[in-house]
Amino acid sequence: MSRASVEISLSAITQNFKSIKRRTTADVLAVVKADAYGHGLIPVSKALEEAGADWFGTALLEEAINLRKAGILKPIISWLTPLGEDFKSAIDLDIDLGIPSIDLLDEVIKAASLTGKAARIHLEIDTGMSRGGALSEWDQLIKSVLAGVNLKQLKVIGIWSHFARADEPDELMNQEQLSLFEQRVNQAKAAGIDAQFIHIANSAALFTNKSAHKNIIRSGIALFGLSPDVKTIGDSSSLSLKPAMKLKAKLNLVKEVKAGSSVGYGGTAVLKSDTKLGVVALGYADGIPRSTNNLAGVFVDKKRAPIIGRVSMDQFVVDLGITSTAKAGDEVIVFGDGSNGEYTVDEWAKAANTINYEIITRIGPRVPRIYPRE
Ligand SMILES: *Cc1c(COP(=O)(O)O)cnc(C)c1O
Repeated sequence: MSRASVEISLSAITQNFKSIKRRTTADVLAVVKADAYGHGLIPVSKALEEAGADWFGTALLEEAINLRKAGILKPIISWLTPLGEDFKSAIDLDIDLGIPSIDLLDEVIKAASLTGKAARIHLEIDTGMSRGGALSEWDQLIKSVLAGVNLKQLKVIGIWSHFARADEPDELMNQEQLSLFEQRVNQAKAAGIDAQFIHIANSAALFTNKSAHKNIIRSGIALFGLSPDVKTIGDSSSLSLKPAMKLKAKLNLVKEVKAGSSVGYGGTAVLKSDTKLGVVALGYADGIPRSTNNLAGVFVDKKRAPIIGRVSMDQFVVDLGITSTAKAGDEVIVFGDGSNGEYTVDEWAKAANTINYEIITRIGPRVPRIYPRE
């Protein structure tokens, strides 16, 4: 192994997909934005297509184009395309586009007339999150869409929205968003928009809100074996999910350090007793959060060694304990599925005061992804 690597279990991802499928009769759209949440866009998507994923979803258009060019044949939706993107390529490559505004619709219609082919679109409604989607423009958007459909410039494939608080299933806001969504969809249908696919559910809604399933579930975090929220929805194992990412690194150095010594920038940690410290060759430039406290660390020598002192750009220090037999060059597990006693992504998220989504997506490109044969 090199300095550090991320090991991805494609079989865990395939099993998670099947576990998601068992919970719903809706199509499952695999959300593979942000390099498949850090797991590698192409290898993950190929494994999921083979496992039977019905759809793929990306934020950026370039992610969707990469998927098509890699040979993914299933429908792909790209839902975060600023004005001025290459919509002509999107239409040529049969990439579906999320449409939140008339401005964007106009550009897509222009691109469609240039290609001579109808653009496949999914109309996005803002049902209360105040982020993506049409709000006051909705009625006017419907009119423009109908005009484009009549001219065969557009094919409305879907209508969709997104929950702001699906990870808090008891929040009234979920019901409010769902009712407004259903109302808007009915209104569009009554106006003559014939959309086959209606979708609003993410992973959290998959687990907690059957009435939100409609006909596509857009699932990201669960595919990678993590819970949308451990506290409110349960942990990976209670949801029959298997974390797919394992982060490993090497100890650069092991040394005995005397009580009273301070460790790292700012001298924020002072040793209470003599101990052995290990220097791990990963830092915040690789995505290790600088704010991580000593409730995370690494697994080495069959036990946990917590972080001590501040995380640096390329390295951090762990307290191995005075009796440790770990030595320079040993491999450590930073996080994994927890089955051998190692820290989990959820523990790292808690220690860094963030969410598991951020821990897995921020591991940087300096850390190679490897796919062990399973
Ligand atoms: C990221 C994203 C999802 C997936 O959310 P998870 O919580 O990871 O399942 C679904 N829909 C949209 C629009 C997204 O941006």
